[in-house]
Amino acid sequence: MADTAVAAKPIPRARIQAMKEYHPPLGSRDALRLDFNENTLACSPKVREALGRISAGALTRYPEREPVEAIVAAHLVLAAAQVALTNGVDEAIHVLFETFLEEGDELLLPVPTYTMYEVYASATDARVVAVQAADDLRFPFERLLDAITPRTKIIAIANPNSPSGSVASQGQLIEIAKRAPQAVVLVDEAYFHFHGETVIDLIGEVPNLIVARTFSKAYGLAGLRLGLLAGPVELMRWVRRVLSPYSVNSLALACLPPALEDTAYLDWYVNEVLAARLEFEAALDAARLRRWPSRANFILVDIGPQHAQFVRLMRAADVLVRDRSSDSGCDGRVRITIGTREQMRQAILALNQAVAELNLGGRAQ
Ligand code: PMP
Repeated sequence: MADTAVAAKPIPRARIQAMKEYHPPLGSRDALRLDFNENTLACSPKVREALGRISAGALTRYPEREPVEAIVAAHLVLAAAQVALTNGVDEAIHVLFETFLEEGDELLLPVPTYTMYEVYASATDARVVAVQAADDLRFPFERLLDAITPRTKIIAIANPNSPSGSVASQGQLIEIAKRAPQAVVLVDEAYFHFHGETVIDLIGEVPNLIVARTFSKAYGLAGLRLGLLAGPVELMRWVRRVLSPYSVNSLALACLPPALEDTAYLDWYVNEVLAARLEFEAALDAARLRRWPSRANFILVDIGPQHAQFVRLMRAADVLVRDRSSDSGCDGRVRITIGTREQMRQAILALNQAVAELNLGGRAQ
């Protein structure tokens, strides 16, 4: 009895034991944050005011999601039953995968793409089927269609995609949904505001389409953890069974309506980033570095074998950028978030210095 008590210990599911650890490099980020595609400045001042108005008494209550879901749904011209708020899009992905993926199922992913799809899939009994983009990193539409099988259960498409910044067209997404009626087509529009094109207007019309949106990027609320899923009522009903009723906290819920209302702030920030992206693209071209066309608030740049030194030199100049070398097909590539024009001028100075020091110019063909 005593022996078994000593030997016995809790063992996680085999799937969990096989999972890779994922530690985003969040340490020491007191610098220009061009590494996580966040808003690099601030959220709307209206959100800040709403936070200040929250009473101590209000915090004693469990958060009530439904009234805020109705507000978000109206903003998106959807019905409340078509929208579920989540603790960031990460929770949305997690819940969606838990809801639909079981043994024998396939999750279809164009790669390179957002890391967490694979992380959450690895906790399920489904198999990941990755479809590699070509060297131009454009959306691999034809190859994705060819990879659909009767076992395809979810197709996850970040649009715009990270780290490439490439996009799929509405027509392509509709065709994919049509060709895989047995699958949920998740279109992750985390970077929607910088692109301006959406399929959210097709919710309900395309029976297997689910769209994700986040408040972590353009809205500048990554710390509050706010995201959403929008989809047909029938599918959302299943999602809601899995979703915790309290996963979106009351501070986040209080901030959401003012964030949505302050369209002037959102427009200002998005326009600032788009202007800064143009300037930064010109600087990359002048430095003769290869880059991929981006419709998001970041650009993937080919640095080559000295990628790690480049990231270190940028950090030494107080500019954080993200090495994406370990992403599929991204060896030597670094992703740089676009902030305001003023911030990107600082980044350009650091970039030019690093390019000179490492003798990188001329990698672009
Ligand atoms: N989807 C994509 C494509 C992303 O790049 C990110 C953020 N890195 C997320 C989802 C996660 O968003 P959230 O902060 O809402 O969890």
